Amino acid sequence: MKIAVLAVQGAFEEHEKVLQRLGAETIQLRQAKDLEQDFDGLVLPGGESTVQGKLLKELGMFDTLKEKIQNGLPVLATCAGLILLAEHIAGDDTVHFGTMPITVKRNAYGRQLGSFHQADGLFEGIGTFPMEFIRAPYVESVSDGVEVLSAVDDRIVGVRYQNQMGVAFHPELVDDDRIHALFLQQI
Ligand code: GLN
Repeated sequence: MKIAVLAVQGAFEEHEKVLQRLGAETIQLRQAKDLEQDFDGLVLPGGESTVQGKLLKELGMFDTLKEKIQNGLPVLATCAGLILLAEHIAGDDTVHFGTMPITVKRNAYGRQLGSFHQADGLFEGIGTFPMEFIRAPYVESVSDGVEVLSAVDDRIVGVRYQNQMGVAFHPELVDDDRIHALFLQQI
């Protein structure tokens, strides 16, 4: 199985390591020609969604990737990646791919909890998972058809919509491969 990891900015190498540990082959998406290869799934890593969105367009990858996602390519999106998928960003007119009918709130934990925190949260199909949040978003609302996979302190931090799975935390940074394993299983 071959998984493409968006590699323009952010924590993409960590995702590759986990996927390789689980036996998947990985390729990096850095420029438009990387999209000419076949792959079975896509990982959108954490980082800075504004920068990633801008680079995707400048590097000529945006339209092709959006089309692939809309056509059913399995996606695992973490943190900034989840923001890229969201149809709405609270208090902001920016839309990146907009393929998942949810509203996300960026940097949602800023004032209350500091920009970094950890929690053991329950995740559908997995159980307790060690979640690391770094300037993380949360999902403010979901439309019909979106499955809530995890909520921590009444905030939605894991969702699935058709071929797209998104989490607000960083499963690639902890010593627990179960979120990635679940993603690979579903492909
Ligand atoms: N705050 C970042 C954003 O808005 C997301 C942070 C992350 O990916 N760790 O894009």
